[in-house]
Amino acid sequence: EAKNKGRNRVVSFAWSMKERFHRIHEIETGLRRAVANDELVLKFQPIFEVKSGRIVICEALLRWNHPTLGQISPVEFIPLAESTGTIEEITHWTIDRACEAAAHWPEDVRLAINISLAVLNSGALPTAVIEALVKTGLSARRLELEMTESVFLDDDSHTQHMLKALQQIGLRMVLDDFGTGYSSLSYLRSYRFDSIKIDRSFMTGIATSREDQAIVRAVTLMAEALDMEIVAEGIETHEQLDYARDAGIHNVQGFLMSEPQSVAVMTDMVLRNVTIPAAIAAKSARNG
Ligand code: C2E
Ligand code: MG
Ligand code: MG
Ligand code: MG
Repeated sequence: EAKNKGRNRVVSFAWSMKERFHRIHEIETGLRRAVANDELVLKFQPIFEVKSGRIVICEALLRWNHPTLGQISPVEFIPLAESTGTIEEITHWTIDRACEAAAHWPEDVRLAINISLAVLNSGALPTAVIEALVKTGLSARRLELEMTESVFLDDDSHTQHMLKALQQIGLRMVLDDFGTGYSSLSYLRSYRFDSIKIDRSFMTGIATSREDQAIVRAVTLMAEALDMEIVAEGIETHEQLDYARDAGIHNVQGFLMSEPQSVAVMTDMVLRNVTIPAAIAAKSARNG
């Protein structure tokens, strides 16, 4: 009996491994056609200024409708796009489409785009960005590039060179998921980001965890002293919003105010000048 159970477990484990490899293979090959087949969709999530309540940035977030596997999360396909090299084509597509959308938004609303380390290092990024800006008429100061601390992990001088080249175009540089990347603070001396996004994991327990409160306050003070804007991501509750406000965080992003939206809804929100209270009210009305 026990022996049988054990054997069944081994068999089902073997099958699930096989299925996992099959899925990874399907995703990797599918990624090569995703752009050409028009399977990618861009969503935009608003980031609100705490003080005025207004939308100041919209972050472009990729979605993929796979013909047989259905919707696939970027958490799953971005790492595979990075390891197979398709990330570059996907990112250039994203830059083009997102700039096109943002060109229709009010002048004081910025666009944020996520950039993988592999794309930063490839060297074609500054040209791709400049071409998109010229084509759409979006000004460089309205475009932000979000990167994680991984850009500092191996202290690569080529990476530093690329960062400076992008900043010279006039783009704003944002450090995403701050506090999760195992990198040292010393890089903040040599390369100045314009903005820091505190990782969602620090906001999750902010209402109850003294540790999270201390970390968020300290990071906010540091950012302020270094003239960097500070954003909190993953705000899901009123309590988290209140803590962010009390800690002196400038901008907030999260499901409490708005999930990522279609380009049509996002454009409508910025044109109607939706504020934090209006966004929260609209969400709770929808949820009944
Ligand atoms: P990220 O850049 O840190 O983006 C924020 C993620 O948190 C998004 O997930 C967003 O939907 C989610 N989020 C926002 N507010 C809340 C909240 O209140 N609660 C919770 N639980 N989640 C919230 P998404 O869209 O699934 O994207 C995941 C990650 O995939 C992104 O993390 C980013 O690293 C990557 N990604 C997405 N689009 C792109 C892209 O175009 N290029 C690259 N290189 N990476 C991308
Ligand atoms: Mg991001
Ligand atoms: Mg983030
Ligand atoms: Mg994140």
